[in-house]
Amino acid sequence: MRNLIRIKLKHLAVIAIAASLVSCGDPATENKTASEVTKPLASPNEATKENINQSFDQFKNDLIEEFWKLNPSYALYVGYYKYDDQLVIPNESANKATLEFSQEKLAALREYDVNQLNSNNAGDYYIIENQLESSIWYISEYKGGEWNPSRYNVAGAFGLILNTDYKSLDERLRTISTRLNNVPAYYQTAIQNIKVPTLEHTDLAIQQNKGALGVFDKSIPDKMAESSLTEDEKAELKLKLSSATTAINGYINWLESKRKSLVDGAAKDFRIGKALYEKKFKLDIVSEYSAKELYDRAVQSKQELHAEMIKITHQLWQKYFKDTEIPKDDLAAVKMMIDHLSVKHVTRDQFVNEVKRQIPLIEAFIKEHDLVDMDPSRPLVVRETPEYQRGFAGASVNAPGPYDATANTYYNVTPLDHYTEEQAESYLREYNHWILQILNIHEAVPGHYVQLVHANKSPSLIKSIFGNGAMIEGWAVYSERMMLEAGYANNEPEMWLMYSKWNLRVVMNTILDYSIQVLGIDQQQGLDLLMNQAFQERTEAEGKWRRATLSQVQLTSYFNGYAEIYEFREEVKKKLGERFNLKEFHNEFLSYGNAPVPIIKRLMRAKLNIN
Ligand code: ZN
Ligand code: ZN
Repeated sequence: MRNLIRIKLKHLAVIAIAASLVSCGDPATENKTASEVTKPLASPNEATKENINQSFDQFKNDLIEEFWKLNPSYALYVGYYKYDDQLVIPNESANKATLEFSQEKLAALREYDVNQLNSNNAGDYYIIENQLESSIWYISEYKGGEWNPSRYNVAGAFGLILNTDYKSLDERLRTISTRLNNVPAYYQTAIQNIKVPTLEHTDLAIQQNKGALGVFDKSIPDKMAESSLTEDEKAELKLKLSSATTAINGYINWLESKRKSLVDGAAKDFRIGKALYEKKFKLDIVSEYSAKELYDRAVQSKQELHAEMIKITHQLWQKYFKDTEIPKDDLAAVKMMIDHLSVKHVTRDQFVNEVKRQIPLIEAFIKEHDLVDMDPSRPLVVRETPEYQRGFAGASVNAPGPYDATANTYYNVTPLDHYTEEQAESYLREYNHWILQILNIHEAVPGHYVQLVHANKSPSLIKSIFGNGAMIEGWAVYSERMMLEAGYANNEPEMWLMYSKWNLRVVMNTILDYSIQVLGIDQQQGLDLLMNQAFQERTEAEGKWRRATLSQVQLTSYFNGYAEIYEFREEVKKKLGERFNLKEFHNEFLSYGNAPVPIIKRLMRAKLNIN
């Protein structure tokens, strides 16, 4: 699901940057029942309630402002530039400041009675609580700064300032000049912080910091040459750039020599193990499942998907393989069928046009079947990905950040221009006739784009900044199945087969992540899971293995969100009986913005009076 990761990086820069910051609730509040959270508004003192909510709004504004002050680089990624010239040195006092901030704000938060808050603020209450508890946990228990050298890299924020037109080039270069002051101290501190790193994160750090050099010895000097800075300013900037380059090279050299001592088994295992994994899962994902329960659920889903795919393959066999005997090995038969069908795809020069053609058709289906509200005043602009944003081919939604909410939402589709014949063919078989439609559903309508339009109507900076990745990805994945169940593609068996393969990826992400990080499987076992049980090609499988060694938990977000939303819909459907309306359910669900699914459930159950 490589497209999906990139979307997060773009339209939700926030979440991607702070995967580690995002997260929810302590046991005390988790145990509150829905009726405790939202009571009918007819309470004796409406005025008091209004005051409390106003005070809470003020609390949120202050919290965000102080948060940006402590995290000036992170602020840049959401388009908040007030502290753009500050680079925080990752030392003991920075940690202490974050811990103090988090503890103080947690205490202040708990002064509020969540029952007195309106539903928007009640949602924010739990998101803030989760966020602050996460910050404390990451510093005091997870301690990534001691074993993950790739956490230390200054290039991203400098590149962002350089390439974002939020003030004149000269001013941006002056900001960069000030920001450069702390670079040498930043890397000295990094070296002091690192105790026993993992080999995998050491290699990543070496590679990425080598990549970082280009910003300082090429990109910034190039822009400086175009600027109107004075000769003195230029000389000073050059000097600072040279110190920064020296500091980064020093860090790379230090890591390379450290690496030699790690190779003979002295490195830390990249697997974080059960205890840390469960806690990280709880804080990052915010789920009603434990990590182990979700893993079991995924294993069950894998079996169901296999059974479905085998059934469809038998059903279609005569149609496509009249003269060939069906293999004894069921999964081999499924693979043959998928390979055979994948030949049906658009030509490479029609790829972008086909996406443009499909979007209005999918939208029409949604309207016709009354599935979810669309907002004609905020149209999705389908375009070819601008050159400067082209990493690799694909399609992704590029939405404005929370501080720039009126800008256009783009659906960037990258033409296959730079591919060889062979690469283009492989890509087009992957995004074949059926999968391309599912991709458009996921990325655009009614997936990410529609979710985003609804989220923007819920005016909460907290939910945009600390938005829950499992809810966002879960909605997009949920919307795929929801569309097929509503009759999209006329229940074609071919579509269901391709959908199952696509959905199996999401399921397998969860199985793989848990199997590696907690159960301790090795690379061979990991590749077997992906290639022999999920029909993935070797390159894709190897990429996924690497990702699962460098990150933990994030790969489970897609399946977790999907499973929770799907099950919640079934629950509401059952409880409301004839009163259930799918479109109303979707509109209501999306109205809570990017809140974690368990929080949305709690607030919706209270509103619908179902417990
Ligand atoms: Zn996605
Ligand atoms: Zn072909």
